[in-house]
Amino acid sequence: MHELAVTKGLLKICLEEGEKHKIEKINKINIKVGELTDLVPDCISYYFNIVARGTIAENTEINVEKIPVEIECNECGYKGIMGKNDYKCPKCKGLQYEITKGREFYLDTMEVD
Ligand SMILES: [Zn+2]
Repeated sequence: MHELAVTKGLLKICLEEGEKHKIEKINKINIKVGELTDLVPDCISYYFNIVARGTIAENTEINVEKIPVEIECNECGYKGIMGKNDYKCPKCKGLQYEITKGREFYLDTMEVD
């Protein structure tokens, strides 16, 4: 499963941050996930609780914020959000665009003791 590898990576970052700042317990983490990733937030939470057992991140609440897809259109110059499941420029309906947002996956903030 893709989510498992991603979740392990996420935990590693949390634990590294925890060590750096001498944190004893991570209560909540806020992560950002682009709409274009195929990551399922519920799966991430599920796996996180398994891989984080016995660490400072055990029983951490996970808050996932989705990042909408943004494009820069090569045809009309439109810059901004692309409609969900649309895959066309919302302005000119063109298909010649660069995706500028929506592929992200990262740890945004942590709430700790
Ligand atoms: Zn356009």
